[in-house]
Amino acid sequence: MTGKILVSACLMGHAVRYDGRAKRLLHPAIDRWREEGRLVTICPEMSAGMVVPRPPAEIAGGAFGEDVLSGSARVIEVSGGDVTKGFLQAAENALALARETGCAYALLIDGSPSCGSGFIYDGSFSGERHLGNGVTAALLKRAGIEVYSDHEIDILVERIAADC
Ligand code: SF4
Repeated sequence: MTGKILVSACLMGHAVRYDGRAKRLLHPAIDRWREEGRLVTICPEMSAGMVVPRPPAEIAGGAFGEDVLSGSARVIEVSGGDVTKGFLQAAENALALARETGCAYALLIDGSPSCGSGFIYDGSFSGERHLGNGVTAALLKRAGIEVYSDHEIDILVERIAADC
């Protein structure tokens, strides 16, 4: 199977988010891709040993996933804990799985400091968003994997159809 897709576990209905919830994405392509064996599901944060529920975390100082990868920014919990190491491990785990399973694409939920690829929160825990990548999305993109947010699923549908 070519065109495998790494997908955020919370989008697939797994209750793995920091608040103990899922955020299932309902779309006919999800069912089709599942039947075709294209989907490789991971929660990067849980793969790095984070528990559910866990304190919300954001990339501090208005920085982005790329800055965390380069060591110039940290991921901080609302309670003040530094979880940068775990977020880096989460990203490495996602990339390793994508490589092992031959994923050329990723479909990741937006807004997360790991999985966000369209927007993330700005580190102030005030609900302010800005355009950019979380840590996992940044690492996958750097490795040449095409990353699509949940809002872009129709673009991914067309991309995969063109690839077949
Ligand atoms: S790390 Fe990604 S898959 Fe896991 S809960 Fe956060 S957004 Fe969902």
